[in-house]
Amino acid sequence: MANLLQQIFSIKNENIHKVITILGFRIKFKNYKKMNYCPTCKTWSDFADTKKYTKILCVNCKSLPRHRFLYFIYKKYFLNTQKPIKILHTAPERCIYYLIKKNSNIDYTPIDLYPEGYKFCNCIKEDVTNLSFSDNTFDFVLSNQVMEHILDEKRFLRELLRVIKPDGYLLLNFPVFIDLEKTFQDDSITSPEDREKYYGQYDHVRKYGRDIFLRLQKDYGAKIIFAKDLLSQKDITKMKLNPNDFCAVIPKGVKVND
Ligand SMILES: [Zn+2]
Repeated sequence: MANLLQQIFSIKNENIHKVITILGFRIKFKNYKKMNYCPTCKTWSDFADTKKYTKILCVNCKSLPRHRFLYFIYKKYFLNTQKPIKILHTAPERCIYYLIKKNSNIDYTPIDLYPEGYKFCNCIKEDVTNLSFSDNTFDFVLSNQVMEHILDEKRFLRELLRVIKPDGYLLLNFPVFIDLEKTFQDDSITSPEDREKYYGQYDHVRKYGRDIFLRLQKDYGAKIIFAKDLLSQKDITKMKLNPNDFCAVIPKGVKVND
C-alpha cells in the first residue's frame, strides 16, 4: 500500500514537474522576447536605468546606446580584420576596451589626461591637443565624448589626424543636440554651474547643434553615419539604440583648414 501511494505520488509529482517546466519555459520565453540585446558583450538582459534615463544600460558590460551602435561601426572598419592594426583610444570606455582586447591582431593604446580614472586598462597620460606620438602612427583613432570638453576644437582634430597613417581614419563621436540648429559656444561661460546650465554638463565647453555635421563634412571630408541609416528599426528597438546616434568617419587624407 505504501509503495502504491508512493508510486501515485511520484507520478503526480512528475506531472506537476512537467507542467511547471512547460510553464517555466513559457514564462522564460515570454521574458526573453521582452529582453534587450547587447551586441558589445553578446548577451540578452533587461537593461538598467541610469541617473537620467530608464532601461538603457547593459547590466553585463555597462554599454550605453552609443557604445552598442559604435560596435557596428568598429565591426565595419576593423573588428573583422585579421591583419595587424594600431589603434589609439581617447578616454577609453570599459566596454569598448574589452571588445577590442579580444582581438590579438590589434595593438591598442588607451590614453587620457587623467589616466588614474581608467584602472581597468594600461591607460597612458596624454594631452589630446599635444600628443607625444609621431606622425602617421595609428590606423585608427577612436574618440568618443571628448571633443565637447576641448576648447580648441581645431587643434584637437588636427592633432588626432596627425598621428593617423595616411590611409587611416578618425572615428569620432560626441553629443549633438539634434533639435539645435547652430552650435552654441560663449567663452565667457566658465563656471561649472553655468556650463551645466547652458551646455548640459559642468565640464562641457560648447553645445553642438546640427551645423557641426556640415562643418565636419566640408572641412574634414567626414562621412556621418547615423544608427537609423545603418540599422533596421527592429535592431534599433532590440538593442535600445538612439536612431540619431552617429559616428563621424574622418579620413586622414584631407587637408585641415587652420
Ligand atoms: Zn553588454
